Formats: sequence, C-alpha cells, structure tokens
Amino acid sequence: MPLETLPRVFSSGRILPMKIPYMDLSIKNLEERQELLSAIDKVFQHGRIILGPEIIELETSVAKYCQVKDSVGVSSGTSAVNLALTALDIKAGDEVIVPALSWIASANAIAATGAKPIFVDIREDLNIDPVAIEKAITNKTKAILPVHFMGKLCDIPAILKIANQYQLHVVEDSAQSFGATFEGKVAGSFGIMGCFSMNAMKVFAGLGDSGMITSNDTELTEKIRILRYCGMVDKIESHYLGLNAKMDTVQAAILLVRLKKLNALIEKRRKIAKNFDNELKGIAKIPIEKAGYKDVYYGYTLQVANRDKFRKYLDEQGIETKVQHWPLMPDQPTYAHCRNDFYPNAKKIVNEIVNIPNHENLTEIEQTYILDKVKSYFHANT
Ligand SMILES: *Cc1c(COP(=O)(O)O)cnc(C)c1O
Repeated sequence: MPLETLPRVFSSGRILPMKIPYMDLSIKNLEERQELLSAIDKVFQHGRIILGPEIIELETSVAKYCQVKDSVGVSSGTSAVNLALTALDIKAGDEVIVPALSWIASANAIAATGAKPIFVDIREDLNIDPVAIEKAITNKTKAILPVHFMGKLCDIPAILKIANQYQLHVVEDSAQSFGATFEGKVAGSFGIMGCFSMNAMKVFAGLGDSGMITSNDTELTEKIRILRYCGMVDKIESHYLGLNAKMDTVQAAILLVRLKKLNALIEKRRKIAKNFDNELKGIAKIPIEKAGYKDVYYGYTLQVANRDKFRKYLDEQGIETKVQHWPLMPDQPTYAHCRNDFYPNAKKIVNEIVNIPNHENLTEIEQTYILDKVKSYFHANT
C-alpha cells in the first residue's frame, strides 16, 4: 500500500487525514497477479490469439451466469449496444428511447446506427421512468434502451409491459450491472438482448476493453458473431456492414479468472454498501435497494442538495468522489439537436448525485473514515 494511504490511528481513536482514491485498479495481491499472468501465458503458448478458445469458454460461462442461451464477446460495451441495435435492423429514421442520465456511450451507440436517441426522464432511484417511456413513444420508435444505472435494475416489469403493448424491443444496457438481479433473474436476461461492458472500471472488469451481448435468441447472437467480424460469414463472403468489434482472447482469459471470483466480489461491495446504509440512513439521501432486487453497487450514489460544496469538503479531507454522469447526455453539444422537455427530474438530479468511494478493497478503517467525514459534513450543513 502506498504510504499516504496507510491508516494512522492514534490511541485516542482519532484517525489522521487519509487519502482515499475513488478507485485503484492496480492489483495488490501477488497470488491474484500470478493467476492472471498464468491465464495470459496460456494464450501466449497456444497462440490462438484471434477469437481463441478462451472467448468461447467465456461466452458459455457468461450465458450460464446470465441465465440465457447464448452470449457473444465483443470489443467494448459501446460496441455491444451498437451491435445489438444493428442486429435488430435499427437504422436512420428510427427512434430509440433512452434515459437522459447515463454514460454518453449509451446515446452514441444508438446514434451510430443512424437512429435518433429520444431522451426521457428518470425516477428518484436514478433509473428510467416507465411513465416517461410511454409518453415518448411515436410511430418511429423501435426500441427501448433502459440503463440499469449504478448496479441497480430498472423497473423491469413495467418496462416489459409497455414494450409488449407497443411491440418494441427492449435492449438492456447492463454495462453497470453485471450480476444485479430482480426476483432471482439477472441483468441481461429480461430484454431481447442484454449488453455488458467489462472495461477496467466496471464491477466485472477486465484489464482493458471488452463487452458482451446476452440473448435467448440464437439467430441474433449468430448475426452478431458475423457483425463483429466485419460482416464476414466465412473467410470469403461479407453479408452485412459490420466493423471490427471482436473481443480480445487475452481479455477473455482474464475475465474467466475474474468471473470465478465475481460473486465474492459483489458480496464485498454489498457489505460495504450495507455498512454505509446503516450509518447514513436518516442523515443523507442514500441509494435504496428495493424489495426483490439485488443491487451490485457499481457506485454508491448519494443525492446532496449542495453537491459541489459537499465534494469540496470531502476532497479537503482526502476523499476522492465522482459524479456519474454529468452533464446529462442531451446537454452534451453532440446532442444539441435531441434536447426536449421530457426529463425535468433528470435535470435536477444530475446536479445532486455524487459517488463516494465504495470499491471492494476499501478497508474497514477507510470505510469508517469516509463515514465520519460524510456525517460531519451533514452535521455542519443541515
Ligand atoms: C461503461 C458503459 C458503457 C460503455 O462501455 P465501454 O466498454 O466503456 O465501451 C455503456 N453504457 C453504460 C451505461 C456504461 O456505464
């Protein structure tokens, strides 16, 4: 551990200033590093670097984990969403409904098909509002792209009901929610397809970029296998306009190692979140895990009226925070032509959200330090 992050606790119980980064992607554990290195070394040895056996193994394992028939490894979460929509023939002239609050990749993946992203509102839980979805439907609407935000599943029953009623596809942007469940059913198993990112920051993370698409429709997953390889059906013929979006075999090797430990890692995150919940309820506006849902806490998001003052205070205490994601996607210059009046709640909430560090390697002392500082802020400011 770097010196400045070492806890300095005095006999009085007082903890001196610490430095707590929002995230630390280095791998401290030697055994873990060796396990990953030997998995990569196997790829070096067999030499099947392009779409190697680890990818097929990962696709089988992820399909099983996600309770679906098939899954396809691709180059990123952004390409996963883009390929899923492309496989559904979504194109220029179509509309896809998406929450105003998400990582910009959600909207870009839609826009790159030629379709128009229609931004709609979120609820207090930061997830897309089904009522707002229904209001935004036109005769051009082809699909809904709900984003399971910060490790929490959307109101899936309500979304599926609307989609069914209006004959729309549901493609789940599950990039932030691998392993999150509702009534035991896992993210990526509800819609026609589920899209994941395993970039280094996600809960289920590789050490580089990759993504995954899950589905029970094997015609679609086979089409995506063609699309990810420049539309090639075999070594000679190209049937669709596809770009290169293959997953790297080395990433698949890393992810296979990490998948084995994923449930334990999620439990660590949930334990930290429950500790934060217990200590902060009634003091701060905390993320609520609804009955029947299991959240994986990609981030632990507080909603604070004077967000920037709160961040500045924590920053002075050595605690790094993160706002995911400001500004709203339609407030980006790229989407100036897509702004509408459909998301008043998101406009307000985007100025209140702030994530405190919650990664699985936080020590108990670090958790206590964060809680002390958050509490002292609210004690002085309410
Ligand atoms: C991370 C993320 C993506 C994109 O994933 P990449 O692998 O970084 O391309 C898409 N949607 C959401 C909601 C994300 O958080």
